[in-house]
Amino acid sequence: MSRGSDPTPRMADQGVKFTTARRRAGWAAAATIVAALAAVRWGAGTSQDAAPAGTLDISREPVPSRSPTFVQRLDVSVFQRGNLHAHSARSDGDSPAQLVFAWYRDNGYQFLALTDHNNYLDVTRPPASQVRDLLVIPGEEVTMAAAGQPVHVNALCTKRRIGGGTFRTAQAAVAWATSEILAQGGVALVNHPNFHWALEADDIASAEGAQLVEIFSGHPHVRSDGDAAHTSAEEKWERALSSGQSIAAVAVDDMHSLTGANKHVPQVAPGTGWVEVFAEEASQEAICAALGAGRLYASSGPRLTRLAVTSDTMTLWVDPPDMMVEFIDRWGALLEATPTTAEAEMSGAAHRASYRLRGPEQYVRARVTAPDGSRAWTQAYRVTR
Ligand SMILES: [Zn+2]
Ligand SMILES: [Zn+2]
Repeated sequence: MSRGSDPTPRMADQGVKFTTARRRAGWAAAATIVAALAAVRWGAGTSQDAAPAGTLDISREPVPSRSPTFVQRLDVSVFQRGNLHAHSARSDGDSPAQLVFAWYRDNGYQFLALTDHNNYLDVTRPPASQVRDLLVIPGEEVTMAAAGQPVHVNALCTKRRIGGGTFRTAQAAVAWATSEILAQGGVALVNHPNFHWALEADDIASAEGAQLVEIFSGHPHVRSDGDAAHTSAEEKWERALSSGQSIAAVAVDDMHSLTGANKHVPQVAPGTGWVEVFAEEASQEAICAALGAGRLYASSGPRLTRLAVTSDTMTLWVDPPDMMVEFIDRWGALLEATPTTAEAEMSGAAHRASYRLRGPEQYVRARVTAPDGSRAWTQAYRVTR
């Protein structure tokens, strides 16, 4: 799988630009960012009293009123791994559904949504009802065309088939699919915005009420990273967030091929992108509720062992330990980039990174980059005063 350039968000409030670490450069380039950012961090050179990241005690006293605080508090260390986008021979995948279920079960996943094109998976019937030790989520990939381009929205946790259609505009397509999914009490996932460059950032807003959007896909044709003329899927998500839309980012593999042997099937392998859902158990009720509320993080490699958001501090604990963590605000403004640091704990050494609110943030999200260039993304946690 090849990836192009990474997003180049603008430092909206400082009026300067920076370039994020490119995937293959990984750690070295990311470390350079730390030095470059020393001069542009929030509060640098002022009298603000923020402690260095990575040294904060998250159990500190609540901050006084009128100070910035996170709207949502959480402390999660139990995650359920799942993939929200995969195909079998029921549509254009190369393997029977039974083998697809077995692959995810045997490779550390707790749940899977098998999303064949316009082909609803009823989990009360075989083969899904016969699966053991893997939760199978009902749904389909609502597969539409708009102005000659493919527009796809995954229906998750739905009750019956929706099917596709042909629309005049991409906005009309995503709006229709989303409303059909929500009418069934389901979860709408706006797929691969950059596939055939079908969706612009503003089109995501047309998916009113959609809970999820893909910002990473293992499918090489969907160009998640954009190119010289097109923004990345992550930047499109960031624009939607910055405009006030509440929508959570996911990573998927869009698996089509377990065998790699059929030249008529896209050679898209499993296991390249997934989500880690904040849930104590992998029941359909718990997973669908968490998906609908965006309680998850996305990953193409790094694992968080714990994620905590207190009144004024976000902290991530990671595994493996050597990660670069960027804390990012609205419009992609980089608040801080820091390597994870070791802390001594009763149970042994853990590696973490923290960001404490300094004042002007609208939201804070974290992007974790591993030495091999793989990444994990938290959701954006909004700030109030
Ligand atoms: Zn698709
Ligand atoms: Zn697909």
